[in-house]
Amino acid sequence: MEQMAETKAPVRYILGGRMIDCTGAPPVPDPVIVVEGNRIGALGTRSTVKVPDGADILDCGKATLMPGMLDVHLHTMMFNCLTFHNFRVAQWEITPELQQMYGLFHAQLCFDMGFTTLRDMGLQTYRGLLVREACAIRDAIDMGIVEGPRMLVAAFTTITGSHLDLIQPRAAERMGFQNADGPWELRKLARTNLLHGADVIKTCASGGGGTDKEEPDIRNMTQVELDALVDEAHAFHKIAAVHCFTPASQRMALQAGADTIEHMVFSDDETIGMIREKGTPVTPTLSHRTDHAIEVRRQQGTSQFVLKKMKSIQENCFDTFQRMHKAGVNIAMGTDMGFDPEMGTNAAELEIYVKLGMSPMDALLTCTRNAARAIKLDKQIGTLEAGKLADVVAVDGDPLADIRCLQEKKNIQIVMKEGRVYADRRPGHSKSVVNAEPGSWKIPDYL
Ligand SMILES: [Zn+2]
Repeated sequence: MEQMAETKAPVRYILGGRMIDCTGAPPVPDPVIVVEGNRIGALGTRSTVKVPDGADILDCGKATLMPGMLDVHLHTMMFNCLTFHNFRVAQWEITPELQQMYGLFHAQLCFDMGFTTLRDMGLQTYRGLLVREACAIRDAIDMGIVEGPRMLVAAFTTITGSHLDLIQPRAAERMGFQNADGPWELRKLARTNLLHGADVIKTCASGGGGTDKEEPDIRNMTQVELDALVDEAHAFHKIAAVHCFTPASQRMALQAGADTIEHMVFSDDETIGMIREKGTPVTPTLSHRTDHAIEVRRQQGTSQFVLKKMKSIQENCFDTFQRMHKAGVNIAMGTDMGFDPEMGTNAAELEIYVKLGMSPMDALLTCTRNAARAIKLDKQIGTLEAGKLADVVAVDGDPLADIRCLQEKKNIQIVMKEGRVYADRRPGHSKSVVNAEPGSWKIPDYL
């Protein structure tokens, strides 16, 4: 033990062309990041930090150094368009065990693109909730058995016939304890999910967009039920995320003390003002609302009802986003990547924010500082600051000049998580987490 205490953590110096630390400070030229073991020891520039002779240097040339990014609303175990021809058939024909493998693969696709932390928002199947499966992915990554991002796992905790329940076809038999009604039954489902390892209780207070025979303004829970769920999450020192499409549901979430509000979609200025006042983070999930997403969904066999609903709420989503941003609501990036936007294209969400009027710097903060705050990991990650975990991405390009540079894999030159390099695509290097070139794996032919 004494010997271990004497062993010093290995020190490494990362050099780049500019650094955006995502604290809100302006970019710094010629940065040096000193990594000690798995943490950032110091930061500065080539004139303020002395790099000793013979030091272990990770030279990123002219690249922009920034924190590892976060997507705090996605579904890694959904039947993504990259890996399934038809999600409706896949819902019946893929076993949860195989789906779990895809979950890991999808998480790795995001990781390879510089997303070092994901909040997985959960899923259910014909065999019940996929909480333990997602937790096993999280734990296998944490243990170092497989490479991947840091993950927080959310567990569906909803009423019978809720929006999240309807992700499964109505015709499907519900197996096991996967919905609950009334405050005590919901508390039990929350406790069961936490027992299975969930980090986040995910519920819905209103209807939603992507499911059949359902209108977004349907109430999905009473206030008493929502209060019970949020209280239960907090009692176990966990967070509660609430899907809300309507102002009524957003107010319910605020009253219950929810930690994050998901989607928004419809709102009014008074409710937006209340959200801003309380400081509750919102994930807009706009990648999931574009014409491209609707087209992908159409190709995957989605019903006309859902496609029409997706189109009809599109303008509301964009308008609500602009009003929230103008009002100063705390926005944390989430994509809702699952069925439609392709896994790994998480950063396309930022391009939408910029197109809707957000500055590139503010957009970057949504997937770094703000996202880390939203999931209460901001003491550890989200910015480049001394003492934080060394999650660092080196980007060939300047995201402040063109936010789209984050969307191309070749530009994501270094992905470092906790001081270790997982992807290295600098000139002369070709290390990636997964071999994800289109066509290099097979989509099941029986779907
Ligand atoms: Zn979602």
